[in-house]
Amino acid sequence: MPLDLDEPRRLAEAIKKLGLKHAVITSVTRDDLDDQGASHFANCIHEIRALNPEVSIEVLTPDFSGDIRLIKKVVEDYGDKKTRLVRDSGSMVENSFGQVTYNRSNNMIEFNKIKIENDIKEVGKAIGAIKAAHITLMVKAGLKYEDLRYSYMSGASGTYVNANKARHIGLVPGFSKGIIQFGNTSIGLARKLAIDSSRLEEVNKIAKKVTADHLMMATSETFKNIYVCELATWIEGMSDEMYNEVLIEEGIPIPPEDLPRSEVEFERRVKKDIDDVGELGLDIVDNVGIVLEAPVEKCILCHKCEEECPEDAITIVENEGDRFANINSQACLGSACKRCVYICPVKTIDHRLLKIQCNENVKICDENEN
Ligand code: SF4
Ligand code: SF4
Repeated sequence: MPLDLDEPRRLAEAIKKLGLKHAVITSVTRDDLDDQGASHFANCIHEIRALNPEVSIEVLTPDFSGDIRLIKKVVEDYGDKKTRLVRDSGSMVENSFGQVTYNRSNNMIEFNKIKIENDIKEVGKAIGAIKAAHITLMVKAGLKYEDLRYSYMSGASGTYVNANKARHIGLVPGFSKGIIQFGNTSIGLARKLAIDSSRLEEVNKIAKKVTADHLMMATSETFKNIYVCELATWIEGMSDEMYNEVLIEEGIPIPPEDLPRSEVEFERRVKKDIDDVGELGLDIVDNVGIVLEAPVEKCILCHKCEEECPEDAITIVENEGDRFANINSQACLGSACKRCVYICPVKTIDHRLLKIQCNENVKICDENEN
């Protein structure tokens, strides 16, 4: 449905006529629009504010596919403490910006819950690393950004993630002209080999023909320079202008703005991970992955780490009187999480001590044993 451009004015007049003191504005998701309706929300606030300066406004927005720029667009010019943005249900932004009060001081959005702020920083570290890696790959391969025709998504995100949202949060370059969701290549290959093991030879031949260079992000100066900018942006609120200045100083071309959705071609090549399983059916294999183990000498068996773990990945076990943290490598979110480490009251969990577990004769600890 096309936008009613006169709606903001009529909305403001209705509020005045009804003599409202508080107005709540909401809408359906409009991800069919280039800015997902952010400008329309902003126009509504503008018109209401112009006609009803004393009215407090609450905007219940869609999730804007996690694009903070669109969230800013809604509230940036209305930092008068009477305007409050509350996020609607849905995606990643719910975790990061679940409820945001906008405050104009210091020209920055201030999030009124420190926990939310920390979430944003943690998410920013991951998103920043991915974006820095994209740019580094292109720069090191000598490619121009505008030449990026297709980006491919594989793994679980190549099947189940919304490709447009993926571009908004930086999982895929926003300036890519096409996104192809390729499905879960590992599972696809495993399936083919399970059906016909002679195809392994074919795979080996292809592998030998691959001549691509290996690029270590950890030792790349280009990656380091870009990632520092990303961290400064997410953690310290560095401006886009300053970000770009640093890139120019380092001789790194400035990436273009994200393309509007209407200019991006999307293609999803698979519907699910495993299309058909054949007449023998599917067996679910438990205990996939390896168990990593670290001693937790000072452990008092409070089990807070287990309760805090979002993936049920950690278990405290006892072996011959010694206590260990066992972490399922398949489920653990790794250094991006570390909630178990932070929650531990005696600070005895140290991920650096993790080793592959070799002793199977362990028993699950019960706090009553303490
Ligand atoms: S790092 Fe996170 S996911 Fe991994 S065991 Fe600790 S709390 Fe669980
Ligand atoms: S939080 Fe620390 S003390 Fe509590 S069970 Fe886990 S390792 Fe032991």
